[in-house]
Amino acid sequence: MSEQATEYRLTALDLARAKQSAMREQGIVIKKRDPYQIAAADPKSLRKAVNAKCWDCQGGGADPNTRQAVGQCGITDCSLWPVRPWQEAVG
Ligand code: SF4
Repeated sequence: MSEQATEYRLTALDLARAKQSAMREQGIVIKKRDPYQIAAADPKSLRKAVNAKCWDCQGGGADPNTRQAVGQCGITDCSLWPVRPWQEAVG
């Protein structure tokens, strides 16, 4: 009977975390941008503009659970509601 190797697949998130960890070990400071800054850096992206608008609508990060608040937004007559970000964060 042959020995079978267990195969693990890394997700994109796993790879990103590994990269960040390696960068920290090299002393590289990682600056985290909020959705405003991300949208400002790419002003033609509708996705990033929607993310920034919903981020602003739910307090602009004043609450540490802003992403969850956007995902749980109950204003269903808002034109952005069907495309609001972080819906998967609600579960
Ligand atoms: S979908 Fe909700 S969080 Fe986004 S802009 Fe509309 S009301 Fe605000």
